[in-house]
Amino acid sequence: MISRTFFRHVGQTSPSPLAIEIDRADGVFLYSGDRRYLDLVSGVCVSNVGHCRPEIVDAVREQAGNYFHLMVYGEMIEAPQVLHASLLTSILPPSLDCIYYVNSGSEAVDAALKLAKRLTGRRRVASFINCYHGSSHTSLSLMSDPDRQDAFRPLLPEVDHLRFNRIEDLARITPETACVIVEPVQGEAGVIVPAPGFLEALRNRCDSVGAMLVFDEVQTGFGRTGRMFAFERYGVVPDILVLAKALGGGMPLGGVVSSKERLDAFTCDPVLGHITTFGGHPVCCAAALASLRLLLSEPWVADAERKGRRIGEALSRHPAVCGIRRSGLLVAVDLGRPELAEKMLGLLVDEGAISDYFLYNPTSFRIAPPLSISDAEVEEAVGIVTKALDRL
Ligand code: PLP
Repeated sequence: MISRTFFRHVGQTSPSPLAIEIDRADGVFLYSGDRRYLDLVSGVCVSNVGHCRPEIVDAVREQAGNYFHLMVYGEMIEAPQVLHASLLTSILPPSLDCIYYVNSGSEAVDAALKLAKRLTGRRRVASFINCYHGSSHTSLSLMSDPDRQDAFRPLLPEVDHLRFNRIEDLARITPETACVIVEPVQGEAGVIVPAPGFLEALRNRCDSVGAMLVFDEVQTGFGRTGRMFAFERYGVVPDILVLAKALGGGMPLGGVVSSKERLDAFTCDPVLGHITTFGGHPVCCAAALASLRLLLSEPWVADAERKGRRIGEALSRHPAVCGIRRSGLLVAVDLGRPELAEKMLGLLVDEGAISDYFLYNPTSFRIAPPLSISDAEVEEAVGIVTKALDRL
C-alpha cells in the first residue's frame, strides 16, 4: 500500500528507485521489517558519522526545543551557527576563515560562482569533464553531459570544459576566467584521484591569470578521503571551498567557505548579493556542530585510509573485479561492464547491503560506508560484497 502511494504521489528521480521502506537506521545499518542492510553509500557521502548517533540526535532535540527558523539567514545571532562556524574555521587555513551557510550542495556551487564573478568582474567559468556539481541550472551548466543538459537549455553561457588530469588543458584558463571549479577527487566520475602535481599546476595557473580556484568538497569533505578535507592531502588551498552533504551530519546544510573579506562581497554592491531563507537552519547547524565534534574526537578520519585499503585489497583479488579506484573510504569497484554493475546492486540488496552506481562510470559500483564503520563491520562488508560478486 505505502509502496503504491510512494510511486503514485511522491515525485520520482528515476524509473527504478531502490524503493525499500526503511523503519529505522542505526550506525552503519538500515532496517526494513526483519531485514538489516549494511549501508555502503552513506546516503552518498552524507552519513559519515553513522546513522542516528546519540550525540547528533540529542543536539537536534535540544535545538528543536529552543527554536527552529527565526528569520532569513544572516539577521539574527543564532548560537548553533556561530559555534559551528567558529569550530569549522578553526580547522581550516587562515584564508578560509568565514562560512556563508546555504541549504544544499547545488546552492553552494551557485553561490560560489556568483561570488567569483562578483570578485573578479569576469564572466567565464571553467569546470572539468565528468564533473558533478548538482542539479540546478548552474550546476548543469558546469557538467559535460549533453544527455542531461540538452532538455534544460538554455544554461549558463561561457563555460569551458577541461579534461581532469590533463595539464595541457589548463592553458584554457585565461585572464577572462572568473573561476575554475573542481572536485579534488572526482566522485561521480567513479573516484578519479588527481595525478601528482595536477592540483598544484591548476593552482599556479589560476594564480597567474587571476582566476579563483573553487574546490567542491561536497562529496569528499569531512573525512571521506582520509583527511578532513581532500585538499589537505594534496597541499593545495582553494580560494573558495564548497561544502554540503556530511557538513550537516545528516541534516540538510550547505556552505561556501572563503575569507571574510571575500565573503563580504555578498554584503554590499549589491546589498543582499545572495539571500537564503533557510540557509544555516539552527537545527541543521546544531547537528553539524555535533557531527564535527565527533569527527574531531573519534579516530574515524585517520582510520578511513586503512579501512578503505583493506576493502580495496580484499575485493581486488576477486576474479570478477577489473579494478579498484579509491581515496580513503570512497571506493569504486569496477566490473568492466555496465550490466554487471547494475546486476551487482540487486545482488547486494539480496545479500543485505545497499550500494549505488556512479553517474559517469557505469561499469563501477560504490563502497562508501559511514566512516564510523568498525573493523568487524568492514570484514562483514567484504564478506557480503564477495558473496554478491560470487553470484554475478
Ligand atoms: N557537488 C558534488 C561533488 C556532489 O556530489 C553533489 C551531490 O551529489 C553536489 C555538488 C550537489 O549537492 P546537492 O545534491 O546537495 O545539491
